[in-house]
Amino acid sequence: MSIAGRDFRELRLEDLNRSFGMLNALKGVSLSVKRGEFIALLGPSGCGKSTALNCLAGLLTLSGGSIWLDQTRIDRLKPEERGFGMVFQNYALFPHMTVRRNIGFGLTMQRRPKEEIARKVEEALAIVRLSQQGDKLPGQLSGGQQQRVAIARAIVIEPPLVLMDEPLSNLDAKLRLEMRSEIRRIHDLIGSATIYVTHDQEEALSLADRIVVMRDGTVRQVGTPAELYGRPAHADVAEFMGYRN
Ligand code: ADP
Ligand code: MG
Repeated sequence: MSIAGRDFRELRLEDLNRSFGMLNALKGVSLSVKRGEFIALLGPSGCGKSTALNCLAGLLTLSGGSIWLDQTRIDRLKPEERGFGMVFQNYALFPHMTVRRNIGFGLTMQRRPKEEIARKVEEALAIVRLSQQGDKLPGQLSGGQQQRVAIARAIVIEPPLVLMDEPLSNLDAKLRLEMRSEIRRIHDLIGSATIYVTHDQEEALSLADRIVVMRDGTVRQVGTPAELYGRPAHADVAEFMGYRN
């Protein structure tokens, strides 16, 4: 797999708004992500994390604002035209297809040559350390292994950006820890930027280069783990990072 995928310098979210009827789920979210960065979107349930991620992926339209990949405006492109890799909480694998076919599905849809698909699938399998499991069906794998397949499927297209929405929340505590370090290892290996949604402070602190703390449809603070932990800008950020007073 070529390192770095399709290149960009900066992804910019500018003043994103999204409402559902009367409810404003995003109220002017702005953010810049640099090439190769690992960003955690952190905040309590209902604060708008998944909405922001789905707008970025193109699965939801914006009510206002714009999304830029360098000089190209991308918020009106279809999900497949944006070409981001996506990993969800429920792995969403095809149960009747082998691991290899699950991983290669997107490339097959793009009508890439068979040999190229086979080569890329093997590379992705190796990256997630599942080379021995390629002929199995998803149902024959553990939850952690299924999530590895979902990650392989997201990275096989060599995306400039990988979007993950609470990818570990269905795993037990031990596997969650193991997969946490796997996700960072894979991120460092492939060089794509990652935006990782979580409500778990510890996960964000241990994984991310920068953390975006969200609350009630807004960005409350952006900083490195050290900055957020050492200098929370708001009482609610401090409380959420685990301070007690
Ligand atoms: P999070 O991922 O941080 O838990 P969400 O982005 O899922 O939060 O939701 C943000 C807010 O938008 C919540 O109040 C939620 O109920 C609402 N919401 C999300 N999706 C929909 C939808 N499809 N229809 C109506 N309301 C929604
Ligand atoms: Mg969510």
